Amino acid sequence: MPFYRMADPATGKVLMAMPEPPIDIPWNDEALREAAAGEKTVETLLSRGGAPRIYRVRTVPLEAGGRVLALQCGFALGELYVRLGRLRTYLGFAIVAAVLVAVTGGYVFATRSLRPMAEILQTLRKVRSSELALRLPERPVQDEIGALTTAINTMLDELELAFDGIRSFTANAAHELRTPLATLRCELEVAIGRDRPAGEYRETLASALEGTRTLSATIENLLFLAKADSSAAVPDEARVDLSGILEHVGGLFEALAEAGDVDLSVDVAPGLTVSGNTEWLKMAFANLLNNAVKYTPAGGRVLLSACKGGGRVRVSVEDTGPGIPPEDLERVFDRFYRADNSRQHRTGGVGLGLSITKRIIDLHGGRITVRSASGKGSTFGVLLPHGETP
Ligand code: ADP
Repeated sequence: MPFYRMADPATGKVLMAMPEPPIDIPWNDEALREAAAGEKTVETLLSRGGAPRIYRVRTVPLEAGGRVLALQCGFALGELYVRLGRLRTYLGFAIVAAVLVAVTGGYVFATRSLRPMAEILQTLRKVRSSELALRLPERPVQDEIGALTTAINTMLDELELAFDGIRSFTANAAHELRTPLATLRCELEVAIGRDRPAGEYRETLASALEGTRTLSATIENLLFLAKADSSAAVPDEARVDLSGILEHVGGLFEALAEAGDVDLSVDVAPGLTVSGNTEWLKMAFANLLNNAVKYTPAGGRVLLSACKGGGRVRVSVEDTGPGIPPEDLERVFDRFYRADNSRQHRTGGVGLGLSITKRIIDLHGGRITVRSASGKGSTFGVLLPHGETP
């Protein structure tokens, strides 16, 4: 129960008190003074007589008939404690309920959001090298799971493409090795079938030797491609003298060009350098020059030129050979691809040279292009980032 009482701060006389009989609580002179000065106060006081109780008491000034009186109101804190105790119980229940709701809600939410993950896992468990066509169903919403699904599907696309590439590469490689081996075996079987004059044996052995040379060249190329495929960059990064390499490669093909009555000219600017590997670059340009000389008929011309421009080195191999038909142009850099012209001319190549060159140029951060038309010769252009002077 609250109590109310009023006193005159000037005299200290109590003018009114409720309830009756009044609760015995001492007046605080300080609170009366403050009320006389028009200030409010709040204090905690102890009742006297009987069981003492703690009261929270508020004193406010009250103007009446030109006088300022002190009006006091208070209530026992015991009641407050009871209410606080009740509040604590309610809060306890509320906390327990909130925890229960949070745990249940969290469980339901986690189960629902993890369900797509379980589906992804289930599909991924089925992925094998023979089952690379499997894809996760794309989600309509592009949330985190949607992004993950797309990323996994892209990865599976790339893996499938890579596996297909490896399969066809292996099949092609086996085919390219099988044919010359079968020819070689046939030649040797015929030679050994009966006694022959020494000259015939020599001829067969020379042809067999040529066959084994072609075979080992093919195997070397295959091994090189396997090595180049597993490299993310060229071995021993260094500034190499490209002018020197091109002069050297040009010199290597002089004899072959002369034998085929092809006019080979080399026009390389001095001091060209690139960052990379000398042996690999030699191989790349040797393949281009070999093709140019090999495919150009007698009386034709081949030009190997190189210059610097725009921070890059531009190398070009031009020939006046038979050219490459438009339908073959896009595929000449594919592994084992041979255009019709090479089959007709029986060049002995297996279609790996240009793919090796492209791989080497790619690993050097460069680009290779081809311009050609049937009967009008071909121009292979290579752009490489220019290196500093070694
Ligand atoms: P290959 O060993 O058959 O020469 P490449 O990969 O070096 O294989 O070349 C692929 C195909 O591109 C060749 O079979 C040939 O048809 C064509 N080709 C390459 N260079 C030339 C060229 N300079 N002139 C005409 N055709 C070319």
